[in-house]
Amino acid sequence: MALRVGVIGGGQLARMMIAPAVELGIDIRVLAEGEGMSAQLAATALGDYRDLDIVRAFARDVDVITFDHEHVPQAVLRALVAEGVAVHPGPDALQFAQDKLVMRARLTELGIPQPDWAAVANVDELQAFLDDHGGKGVVKTPRGGYDGKGVRVVRTAAEAADWLADLEGDALLVEELVSFTRELAQQIARRPSGQMVAYPVVETVQRDGVCAEVFAPAPGAGERLMRVAEAIGRQIAEGLGVTGMLAVELFETDDERILVNELAMRPHNSGHWSQDGAVTGQFEQHLRAVADLPLGDATPRAQWSVMVNILGGPAEGTFEDRFEAAMAEHPEAKIHTYGKSARPGRKVGHVNVSGNDLDDAVYTARAAAAHFA
Ligand code: ADP
Repeated sequence: MALRVGVIGGGQLARMMIAPAVELGIDIRVLAEGEGMSAQLAATALGDYRDLDIVRAFARDVDVITFDHEHVPQAVLRALVAEGVAVHPGPDALQFAQDKLVMRARLTELGIPQPDWAAVANVDELQAFLDDHGGKGVVKTPRGGYDGKGVRVVRTAAEAADWLADLEGDALLVEELVSFTRELAQQIARRPSGQMVAYPVVETVQRDGVCAEVFAPAPGAGERLMRVAEAIGRQIAEGLGVTGMLAVELFETDDERILVNELAMRPHNSGHWSQDGAVTGQFEQHLRAVADLPLGDATPRAQWSVMVNILGGPAEGTFEDRFEAAMAEHPEAKIHTYGKSARPGRKVGHVNVSGNDLDDAVYTARAAAAHFA
């Protein structure tokens, strides 16, 4: 019987696992939050991923559980594991992607380079940290943030007074404001049996807190940067016991240090380029890893790959018309759509272009994506 992989969450990451699952002969099943989600094609169950009974019923018919997002509560995950369900990544690893304070504490223990940080529970503690760090800092809600929500640059503690007032005994994370020259991401795939494969480090460009473009490999990355980023990724994957795809978001600083920003334990926007630009794309790799199958080669197929996100915008005409125009004008572009309504600012697809000239690839990917703007 085909191996059955259950994905919790019906978003675009689950959607993009469907094609590689078919190729691998994996029976992929999705627990979607509702009707009409991106991964509807593989949705075999609908319901709330926070409800143990719903998740348990879904898990009964699969061989391994994995995720489209990191929001399934620890209590639900631990109950599944206690009942003998294979969950990858497991709750012990996933907690570090669910809570930024827990992550910072663990990375400190592992000796991984990261920004100075502290847990602060009140205005005085936050102000003391800011005073020690040049009168500025980045305050983060430890849980539930994404795409820059839950991240605020502050110069006085009063600027985070509303978040501090809502804490109810918890703490906020505050970090030094890193003066970075660019942001990078390192991806690692790791199987339960321990095999790991590293992708080349990439450069990510964010706009308004949302990933806009990715260049793979990171332009100008010398051997030292590649080696350091990969070593950090491997150390985290192993140290935290990650299974499946791990993305480590990094800052590269003026003085050539590499600092860890945050972690994602699933396929990640920074790895979309690999669908078309690497021997094994991250969605196939994630499935192989969580199913404990031999991992694929992560070597790039071309010198450069560029990914440009398509955000919903005010463009005239239907999405299908724009898609057709982009395809007609840029046959070398691989355009991926998420089957979502094109609300302004929402990620609704992306374009991948690979080639031996970085400027050409950037130009084509942007031009294809511009059809949707
Ligand atoms: P999210 O979970 O919403 O993705 P992140 O923690 O990745 O939030 O932060 C979002 C963005 O904010 C980062 O991509 C980076 O541009 C900026 N940022 C986050 N932390 C810092 C920091 N310590 N110093 C400078 N910029 C930061």
